[in-house]
Amino acid sequence: MSYTALYRKFRPDNFADVKGQDHIVTTLTNQIKHNRIGHAYLFCGTRGTGKTTVAKILAKAVNCEHPVNGSPCNECAMCKAIQAGTAMNVIEIDAASNNGVDNIREIREEVSYRPTEGKYKVYIIDEVHMLSVGAFNALLKTLEEPPSYVMFILATTEAHKIPITILSRCQRYDFHRITIDTIAARLDELLKVEGIEAEEKAVRYVAKAGDGSMRDALSLLDQCIAFYLGQELTYDKVLEVLGAVDTEVFSKLLRKVIQGDVTGSIHILEELIVGGRELSQFVGDFTWYMRNLLLVKTSEDPEEAIDVSSENMKLLKEESTMLDVETLMRYIRIFSDLSNQIRYATQKRVLVEIALIKLCRPAMETNLDSVLDRLRVLEQRMDERPVQQVIVQQGNSVSGAETGAVVAAAEKKPPAKAAPEDLQKIVAGWRVITGQTTGMFKQMLQKSIPKYNGETGEPILYVEFQDFLGQSYVDDPDAKKELQDIIAAQTGKSVEIEMLVANQHQHTNLADITVDQAIRDNIHMDVIIEEDPDEPQE
Ligand SMILES: [Zn+2]
Repeated sequence: MSYTALYRKFRPDNFADVKGQDHIVTTLTNQIKHNRIGHAYLFCGTRGTGKTTVAKILAKAVNCEHPVNGSPCNECAMCKAIQAGTAMNVIEIDAASNNGVDNIREIREEVSYRPTEGKYKVYIIDEVHMLSVGAFNALLKTLEEPPSYVMFILATTEAHKIPITILSRCQRYDFHRITIDTIAARLDELLKVEGIEAEEKAVRYVAKAGDGSMRDALSLLDQCIAFYLGQELTYDKVLEVLGAVDTEVFSKLLRKVIQGDVTGSIHILEELIVGGRELSQFVGDFTWYMRNLLLVKTSEDPEEAIDVSSENMKLLKEESTMLDVETLMRYIRIFSDLSNQIRYATQKRVLVEIALIKLCRPAMETNLDSVLDRLRVLEQRMDERPVQQVIVQQGNSVSGAETGAVVAAAEKKPPAKAAPEDLQKIVAGWRVITGQTTGMFKQMLQKSIPKYNGETGEPILYVEFQDFLGQSYVDDPDAKKELQDIIAAQTGKSVEIEMLVANQHQHTNLADITVDQAIRDNIHMDVIIEEDPDEPQE
């Protein structure tokens, strides 16, 4: 016995079984009941939302010998012939492969003959946006004066590609993406018929993965069932088959990101990859997780707004207090950009790693979102050390200041002593100095923070890289020499240089000095930019 895919096996054969498109079904059945059938219909909507299914039911309904309540009876000869695909008067054309003028001319010739059986000759043209310009023109002629017994049903996923002249001659129906509830309910029904036990959580995951498409959801369900034939379908098995990741992992990852823990986040990613998880899927699901978090944060009644278990809701509520809306939106933006890029990328892993680093290190970005996020980090530090004075400088309005827009003065307990004058000059000219290097080294340097030891006053310049990517330069004598030469040429001084990676070195008492800090130290004037955290800047 050959196996029939679920979506074929359970393809609705009457309007009552079509799910999630009530607005369309109601209109069409009313037309049939009152015999007010149109000659040209345009069905628009994303894939798997039921366009061709409804087209076929409509073709049956208008030809049925005794329709019931606007639906086909599925028992008369016409219904059976159309169902079996043997009816001469229902013609299905895939415009993707028959898009030429000749294909449409053929139709124009055919329509001059009355149907040999049934009342209507029905042409179902799928992917109609693929027709050539000439073919559209030929089609238009037919649509302008259709014989009374002809009906066109055009289906498309891309309505904007249909010429206006065609659009204006069709009744247009927009098929909605189907909700998770509707899909899950349908899956439950079918699983019962098939006699398969399944956890509710498993069914809901498959429904969600269908992303508004009943057909996709059914195909995914098929995969899961085939993998564990004859067994109960559990949530874990579904994740396994679909290469998906449990929400608990997302929660762990998000917390690492909020802490700015690059190494920790990359480590979680590593585990997922080793576990054979699919990265595009992961990116989509993590975005969805953050979207849920956003709803929890902004909704009055999050339990109503999103669909998660009570233990996940608890985690989400905890996390919603850990970050503000602007930061979360920045995270979501980065990840939804990523989900567009990753589909066609060969180096998926690298892209995901870069995105995670961007989340952890807002300093690497220069747009408004990330500036707000940097302020969040800053405010956090202020909360931790309420007595310390903090200076915020946005952009690089002070000439020669390094780009790091946020400078927390509170790096260590006793305030740092001023650096030797030479080092101050170097630090003040850091942009200019690093600008003379090239390639990857330059990129790393431009994010680095030059520091000095204020306690000993030793004439050593400490170059602190902000993440592990700078690691490879730490012990590279050539890189060090290059930098020393540039400094010597620029300032006429030779300095000792030590390169470090932030959070990975033993020098706990280093100070970073920037121009505005030097101004504060020397002129004894505090510069504070006030920022209301509750009021997003637009
Ligand atoms: Zn019938």
